[in-house]
Amino acid sequence: MGVLQVAQLGNDVLRCKAQPVNNISDKNLGGIIDNLIATVIETNGVGIAAPQVSISDRLFIMASRPNLRYPNAPKMEPTAMINPRLISHSEDRVKDWEGCLSVPGIRGLVSRYRVINVEYTNREGKLKRQELTDFMARIFQHEYDHLEGIVFLDRVESTTDLMTEDEYQKQILQLKN
Ligand code: ZN
Repeated sequence: MGVLQVAQLGNDVLRCKAQPVNNISDKNLGGIIDNLIATVIETNGVGIAAPQVSISDRLFIMASRPNLRYPNAPKMEPTAMINPRLISHSEDRVKDWEGCLSVPGIRGLVSRYRVINVEYTNREGKLKRQELTDFMARIFQHEYDHLEGIVFLDRVESTTDLMTEDEYQKQILQLKN
């Protein structure tokens, strides 16, 4: 397993629409998934999409757990979601702060659906359906955007909804804890 280099804002790969994964049994796929998981853990992320490591495939990892960047994150096993789809969503939306491994040092207030129903193929090739809520739903929507060439900054309503990571740690995390 290896930690991969994360593409940063400005890199064209982050603006491309990723291609469907056609061959789930491709031997390389398992290695890519392992490397993505190693990378998201090493960098204190809670999710990472393949385009962020310059692989323009419809695949991402959700790996929520409390860490330095997200101390209040719920804990889950790192999960690979291949060819993910958003099936349906609640009407209600929630605004909360997001960051991104490809946009280091910046947080932004982003509105997301609170409840979503999703479908994806897991690394064993099984089709899965799941309901995700709140923080988990937020991670999915953030990572799904990466597959469409969208970054969270595109969804921030105003530049006054941006903050540096340092300031975020000072203000927001102190309030929550
Ligand atoms: Zn991101």
